[in-house]
Amino acid sequence: MLSTPRQPGHPTGTDAEDTDDRRAIVRMAAEFAASEIAPQVAAYDRAEQIPRELLDKMGALGFFGGVISEEDGGLGLDYVTFAELIEEVSKTCQILGTFVSMPSGLVGASIEAFGTAEQKERWLKPLAQGRIFGAAGVTEPGSGSDVAGMTTTYRKEGDDFVINGAKAWISNLDVAEFFVTFASRDRSARHGGVTAFIIPRDTPGLILSPYKDKLGFRPICTGDVVFDELRLPADALLGEEGGGFKVAMTAVERGRLGVAARAVGVTQACLEDTVAYAKERAAFGRPIAEFQIVQSKVTDMAVGATTSRLLVRECAEALQEGRRARQLTSMAKMYASDVAQKSATDAFQVFGAAGVSPEHRVGRMYRDAKVLQIVEGSNDLHRALIGEIELGLRADGERRA
Ligand SMILES: Cc1cc2nc3c(=O)[nH]c(=O)nc-3n(C[C@H](O)[C@H](O)[C@H](O)COP(=O)(O)OP(=O)(O)OC[C@H]3O[C@@H](n4cnc5c(N)ncnc54)[C@H](O)[C@@H]3O)c2cc1C
Repeated sequence: MLSTPRQPGHPTGTDAEDTDDRRAIVRMAAEFAASEIAPQVAAYDRAEQIPRELLDKMGALGFFGGVISEEDGGLGLDYVTFAELIEEVSKTCQILGTFVSMPSGLVGASIEAFGTAEQKERWLKPLAQGRIFGAAGVTEPGSGSDVAGMTTTYRKEGDDFVINGAKAWISNLDVAEFFVTFASRDRSARHGGVTAFIIPRDTPGLILSPYKDKLGFRPICTGDVVFDELRLPADALLGEEGGGFKVAMTAVERGRLGVAARAVGVTQACLEDTVAYAKERAAFGRPIAEFQIVQSKVTDMAVGATTSRLLVRECAEALQEGRRARQLTSMAKMYASDVAQKSATDAFQVFGAAGVSPEHRVGRMYRDAKVLQIVEGSNDLHRALIGEIELGLRADGERRA
């Protein structure tokens, strides 16, 4: 197994034992990434399909247990270890970093916080144990950033719920056994009209259409989810009717922490590859590492990796203390993904033509880093949110007016 499980609330980094545990987990992840992921990542990125055996192996080793409690099937990791584990895996494949973070994000956290005992037993436990996968459907064809602008609706028929509408850009279409998703009974109520549901994959009226040939995030299967007169029994309700917006917001901080940690992994990979390549590649009779403009790019990557990591750690510690950390996690998500995107652009530049070749991973990092600036809230939104909180226009993430 991957770890010595710990309960959330356990203090972190305060004694040698904690640090040793954390190092052991991250070291095991690094060894696994080097021996099992690295040899196949380029091929499965091209094929747009992570081998199921690889996911199953990671599941069996506990990679997907994250911060979900042991009682609910997870590892009960502290947030600092969780973030370091995501970074380590993401250095080799940031999509597998997504898989590590997803059960602790909206997919699992919503059930952990709002699910009944039966829902936890049926969905959360096997999810956290890596035996099944799930998906979270929030984004719609006509609304991404504006979550409350969703147009998927439901009506009640006796105890049943009947859903009609569509979600777009939903990840894990190929492997998800269930979908945590949202529909509104009264669209005029905006946030107040939204309800959360758990939809089993085999429900009649659920239509899944994967996209093909994405620029980045290629190995994760993403696409449209359509609900056509989809009928659900009462026990598919997650939380209370009308309480769906609260469910959707359960795990935003964890989601942002996860993206930020993945971005640190991408930046670190760019840094390591650039350093190695700059020492070995020669131009004008000397290694390109001797050119100051190359050194300057390496400096930016090294500073960026370190500052992003410190910000991620600050977020992880805040979440560990039970704080919501809305502004801090927005900062980490925005900053770390901006740094990753710049680092990948600079790494690509240092590689010259070789960066275009599938032989090197900087091309994949470049394609993925751009997407990190969009998922879990576009960076423009985070930029606005951070400024609004700073200016007192938002308190604790909620609009005052
Ligand atoms: C590979 C991939 C996987 C994804 N997986 C999932 C998933 O599993 N589940 C899910 O629900 N969603 C998923 N998404 C969707 C993702 O969360 C959305 O793309 C994201 O929330 C942005 O929404 P949008 O693309 O509709 O952009 P829009 O909301 O249309 O915004 C477009 C642009 O407008 C600007 N903008 C919009 N509003 C503001 C504002 N208030 N202030 C400043 N600028 C603004 C921003 O620049 C933004 O980038 C995924 C997306 C991708 C690319």
